[in-house]
Amino acid sequence: MGLLSLGTPLDWHELKKHNEHVRDNGIEQLINIFRQHSARLKDHFYWGDEVEYMLVDIDSSRKTARLAIDKDLILDDLNDPAKPEISGKAISNNVSFHPEYGRYMIEATPLRPYDGNSLEDYVYVEENMIKRREVSQSELPTNIVPLTLTTYPRMGCGDFTSPKAKPIGPASQSLFLPDEIINRHVRFPTLTANIRKRRGHKVAINLPIYPDTNTKLIDDSIPKRDLFPSDEEPFIGASQPGHVYMDSMGFGMGSSCLQITVQPSDIHQARYLYDTLAPLTPILMAVSAAAPIFKGFLVNQDVRWNVISGAVDDRTFLERDIKPYKGADFFGGLDVTHEVKDHFELLGGGPGVNGDRIINEYGDTTIKTLDGKPVQKVPKSRYESIDTYLGDQGYHDEPYFDKSYNDIYSPINKKVYDKLTSTKLFDPLLAHHFAHLFIRDPLVIFSERVNQDNTLENDHFENLQSTNWQTLRFKPPALYPEGEQLSEKPGWRVEFRPLEIQLTDFENAAYSVFITLVSKAILKFNPDFYTPISKVDKNMKTAHGVDASTDSKFWFRNPARWRLNNEDFKGYDLTWFDRFVNDGNDLFDDNGVYLNGYVEVNNDVVENGTDVSDACNDVKLSALELIDGLDSFPGLIKLVVKLIATELIPSNWQNKSHHCKSRQFARELELLRNYLKLISFRASGKIPTIARFLRDFVLRHPDYKQDSKVSDRINYDLVQASVAITNLDFKHHNDLLEEYFGEEIAGFLSARSAAGIA
Ligand code: GLU
Ligand code: MG
Repeated sequence: MGLLSLGTPLDWHELKKHNEHVRDNGIEQLINIFRQHSARLKDHFYWGDEVEYMLVDIDSSRKTARLAIDKDLILDDLNDPAKPEISGKAISNNVSFHPEYGRYMIEATPLRPYDGNSLEDYVYVEENMIKRREVSQSELPTNIVPLTLTTYPRMGCGDFTSPKAKPIGPASQSLFLPDEIINRHVRFPTLTANIRKRRGHKVAINLPIYPDTNTKLIDDSIPKRDLFPSDEEPFIGASQPGHVYMDSMGFGMGSSCLQITVQPSDIHQARYLYDTLAPLTPILMAVSAAAPIFKGFLVNQDVRWNVISGAVDDRTFLERDIKPYKGADFFGGLDVTHEVKDHFELLGGGPGVNGDRIINEYGDTTIKTLDGKPVQKVPKSRYESIDTYLGDQGYHDEPYFDKSYNDIYSPINKKVYDKLTSTKLFDPLLAHHFAHLFIRDPLVIFSERVNQDNTLENDHFENLQSTNWQTLRFKPPALYPEGEQLSEKPGWRVEFRPLEIQLTDFENAAYSVFITLVSKAILKFNPDFYTPISKVDKNMKTAHGVDASTDSKFWFRNPARWRLNNEDFKGYDLTWFDRFVNDGNDLFDDNGVYLNGYVEVNNDVVENGTDVSDACNDVKLSALELIDGLDSFPGLIKLVVKLIATELIPSNWQNKSHHCKSRQFARELELLRNYLKLISFRASGKIPTIARFLRDFVLRHPDYKQDSKVSDRINYDLVQASVAITNLDFKHHNDLLEEYFGEEIAGFLSARSAAGIA
């Protein structure tokens, strides 16, 4: 989750003296990056994924499952060149391990990026993911298992760690989470403490409890304690009735997700791709939903997103523009003069008092911190959906982007904006993007790293960049010494961040491959998906809901205005694979699509189907309509299938024989088809999302008392079921796996394991 530097981290009260220094130099570094890389063209299409795991200690004699917080040393070993017998396993398997926020977490990625132009690499992803589990498991006792659960169901409930630890830590001051769950690297406890100190009080996350027949709509797990002054916060306003209350960074950053980064050919492609993926973020998050349980409660939502958002929310009461708890300070841990404070009080300073836009301007006075930065109203946490589009003017001769799409209030750092636009390297949209990221303060500074060479180092830039955790990240390259071959170094990239982690490597490979192929298809077919950001934000809220994947509709650009010709995609649905691999289909239409045996399904009149003839810019689509398309417009799957058929299939298949003549190749295509099926079936409700599956698992568990609580025993059984699913253990758990994957995909997977292919 960001950059690790070694050294002595500064406490917030020391750190804040350097805030402006970090921002000023970070911007110099960014400008130098643009000087070095903005003219760069024709980078290779590489991509990669990041998977986050939780190490779970399973005791089958006691029937308990706990988060293992004493096995993090494997990360050092797996990265230690002095222990080649261990680190060599990672290298020879092309995998790489990284620390994450939780001491019980590990993150793993491919060591080398995948080649996005090669079909083999899409098929290889899952194998690489399997190796990551195998290599990490080989360094762990057999009772400790790396699981890809999005959230740990009983996080923060009594003894949920192994070994036991007490929630009495000074870094988080949490009533529920011991500091021992936090990664030992100083960066992480410092982040935790500095978020609290800047904010002036602990973070507070409140999730609606799922109402069942015996549910008392109250979080009865909040202890009365007298250890830190913050202990009283839940009783003076931090905890809301009817909600599960969580008070610490670990509840969010201790969750796991799946991230995908792609590298298009240049900065212009990257900007258009970033913009075009943005409206997809909430919808695909809903289709990946895997988090219905928090702190031992079933909650009335399905995803982790707003929990992390709250868990790293370092904004003061004033920035959030809400009333402080009794006795708490509007300004949190920010330094402002007494005059400013008095003046603020005098004006009856308080929520919304200065209009709904900017708090920092009243009359002719400005509220500034002592280091000269204006105090602003800041509508979003650092972990949130993106604020603005970057624009596609350098990519399309006649840009699709219109400034009316950037329609939410998005505060900026004016000084940064002015500086960037004065260089001529940044147009207003790009300058706004970075000036928005730079409204934040650094959260961790190492004393040894305060002074840097801005022509060669980019830590100050990355300090702010990597603590703005948004649904997408626009990633500039790093700085290199003159004479370096830049085309061999990472270029302009876009990271897709909203997805929840899935239990199996099959699913994680499916979502990763899907996002990358959609990205590539976007760059090939150039759809116009621009939807006003305010509507994308509405979708983000919608996407949190229970079963949003199947039951909700999302704002999206009217498919009639996608600038795609529906006819061009005819025949490229999931049935294309059958027609391609089977002999005898030699009838082509103008597009070279095999049409033998192709029956057009008339699905324009689906129940509650969307009328896309409407003349307006934006309509509401279900996730399934977007993914599968309707008769009048192609969905994402058709874009992807056409991309596979026309670009990724080796040309001798395409042009000479028209058919797939090798069994191996047929198997590879079958795998890709199943990846696409999984996503489509989740959106159609044919198979459950993980959130739905887990919720049902709890609701029908014999130990469940219809009170929305997930007991220690239910937690254990749920972890055991997760292990069976992760291992695709058809031999012992066929029914479970059929429920999880549905018959069709389960059939594919069990046949595949029987054949010993994966
Ligand atoms: N674990 C975080 C999440 O679930 C992401 C941390 C990161 O950016 O690596 O979104
Ligand atoms: Mg991570």
